[in-house]
Amino acid sequence: MAPQASSSNGKPAPHADNGSRPHKTPQHEAIIIGAGVCGIYQLYRLLQLGVDVTVLEGSDGPGGTWYWNRYPGCRFDSESWTYGYSFSKELLQEWNWTEHFSPQPETLRYVNHVLDKFDLRKHIQLNSHVKRAEFDEDNDIWTLTLDDGRELTTRFLLTAIGMLSAPTMPRLPGVDDFKGLSFHTYYSPREGVDYRGKRVAVIGTGATAVQLIPVVAEQAAELTVFQRRPNWCAPLHNARIDDATMAKIKASYGEIFAKCRETPGGFIHGPDRRKFAEVPPAERLEFWEKLYKSPGFGIWLGNFRDVLMDEHANAEFTKFIADKIRARVHDPKVAEKLVPKDHGFGTRRVPMETNYYEAYNRPNVHLVDINETPIERITADGIKTSEKEYKFDIIVYATGFDAITGAFDRIEIVGQGGRKLADKWRDGPITYLGLQIAGFPNLITLAAPQSGSVATNFPRGIEEVVDWSTALLTWLRQRGYHHIEASADAEQQWFDHVKETYGWTLIGRAKSWFTGYNSNVPGHDTLRYTIYNGGALKYRQWLTEVADNNYRGFVVR
Ligand code: NAP
Repeated sequence: MAPQASSSNGKPAPHADNGSRPHKTPQHEAIIIGAGVCGIYQLYRLLQLGVDVTVLEGSDGPGGTWYWNRYPGCRFDSESWTYGYSFSKELLQEWNWTEHFSPQPETLRYVNHVLDKFDLRKHIQLNSHVKRAEFDEDNDIWTLTLDDGRELTTRFLLTAIGMLSAPTMPRLPGVDDFKGLSFHTYYSPREGVDYRGKRVAVIGTGATAVQLIPVVAEQAAELTVFQRRPNWCAPLHNARIDDATMAKIKASYGEIFAKCRETPGGFIHGPDRRKFAEVPPAERLEFWEKLYKSPGFGIWLGNFRDVLMDEHANAEFTKFIADKIRARVHDPKVAEKLVPKDHGFGTRRVPMETNYYEAYNRPNVHLVDINETPIERITADGIKTSEKEYKFDIIVYATGFDAITGAFDRIEIVGQGGRKLADKWRDGPITYLGLQIAGFPNLITLAAPQSGSVATNFPRGIEEVVDWSTALLTWLRQRGYHHIEASADAEQQWFDHVKETYGWTLIGRAKSWFTGYNSNVPGHDTLRYTIYNGGALKYRQWLTEVADNNYRGFVVR
C-alpha cells in the first residue's frame, strides 16, 4: 500500500483516488517563476526527473540578483568557493573564481556558464513577467497570466522569485522632479555610470550603500551620504585567488561543503563553542582582534556562541567594534554619527566593507544625518533638507527592498475559493516550512518567508529546499497524486515554531529586513515573521522528519 501523507495531528490525510480526478490537462507539469540562482537549480533538477517544465523570467536576462544589481562595488559577502552550486563535480573543477568574494560581473558570468554547460537556456522564457496566478480547483491546475496577455497552465507552480527582488524607493515628495540621473541601486544603469567629476548623493547606508560608497567616493567630485540609521559594518578582507590557491580549493570542495552543512548559516563560519564569559578578557580581545583581521563573516557568525544571544556579551563586543570605527574615522563627530546606537553588533545582517569608514576621511565625502536635518523633498536640482538645498548631478537610492514577501505581493496569487495570498498575508506571512501555503495547493514556494533558506548562504540554503521539493514531486508522481496542500494545522504549528525562534537570538528583535521591517511599505514598520531563525541544521531536521513521515502535514490526493 502506498504510504499516506497525514495531517499534522497524525490523522491520515484526506486522500487518494476519491473519484475527483481532474479532467483537464495543463500545458506543463511544472512552471518555475524566476531564473535566478534558485530557479536555475530547480530547473536542472526537474529536467533530470523528466518533468515537462518551463521557467518564466520577467527580465531580459537570467541571473536574478546578479543580473540586476550592477552598482559599483557589488560583490559576494559569502566566500566565492562556498557560493557556487555543489551538485556537479565537473562544474566545480572547471570553474575558477578569481577573488575570494566574487564581484557581480564574474558571478553573472558564472550563472551564464552554468546555463550553457547544462543546456538550460532553451527551457527559460525571458521577458515573461507573471502578473497573475489562479488556481483551478476542479482541475488542480494553475493558470498564469503574463504582462503580454499570454496564459499558461501548469499542475505545479514553483516560485523562485527572490528575497530581495522588490526594490523600494523612499516615500519622499518630488522623486520624479529631479532633472539629473537618479536610480535605485537594483536598477543601476546597465551601460554603467560615469561618476567622475559629478556631485553625487547616496540615500541609505545598508549593505548595498556600504559597498558602493567607497568606490564612488574615489570617482565623484563630491559625494554626500544621507544616513538615517548607521549599520555595524566589518572588513571583508577580499583578495585575489591565484592558481595555486584555486587548485587547493578545488581539492577541498568535499570538506568545504561538509563544513557549510554543519554551520547554522550554511557559511564556512560557525560559532565558537565557548561562551563570552568563559574566556579571560585578554584572550577575548586577542580573539576579537583576530576575527577583525580575518576575511568574511567570521566576525559575525564565528564569534563566541552567545554574542548574538546574550545582551551583555553582545554589548561588550559592540563596544569593541565601536572603538574600531572611532579609530578609523578621523573626525570624531563624523565617527560618532557612524556608530549605531539603536542596536547591537550583528543583530542586523552585517554589511561587509572595504575602506567604507576611510571613505569618510576624504575631503570630497560628506555625511548628513537625516535625523538631525530631515530630507523634506527631492527637488529638480537635488535634495532639500530642513537645513538647506543640496545640488546634485546624480542621486542613488540605496534604500533596500520590500524583502521576502514583496516579490509575492507583486503577483496576484489567487488560491482556493478565490482567496488572494495578499489577503491571507495581510497581517504577516504564514506558511508551512516556508515551502507551502494552506489554501494554495500545488504551489511550492522556494526561498519564501519562513523558509530556512532565506537567512543562510543562499545557494547552500536553496540547494536544500530544491532537493527537498524535487523529492516531494518525485514522491507525488510515483503515486499519481495531482494535489498537495499544507493542512491548516501544520501551517499553524510551523508558524508558532517560527515565532518561537525569534526569541532565540537578538536578531529577532532588531528592526531590519530580517524582521520584515521596511519604512517605505505601508504596514511593514512593525515586526513580521519573515525568516526562520532556528538555523540551517534545525531546518534540515524538520524537512527530513516531514519527508520521512510521508510528508506529514500535507494533504494529498
Ligand atoms: P537595507 O539593508 O534594507 O538598507 C537600506 C538602507 O536605506 C538603510 O540604511 C535604510 O535606513 C535606508 N533607507 C530606507 N528608506 C529610507 C528613507 N526613506 N530615508 C532614508 N534612508 C532610507 O538594503 P540593502 O543595503 O540593499 O541591503 C539589503 C540586503 O541585501 C543585505 O542585508 C544583504 O543581505 C543583501 N546584500 C548583500 C550584499 C553582499 O555583500 N552580497 C550586498 C548588498 C546587499 P534604515 O536602516 O533607517 O531603515
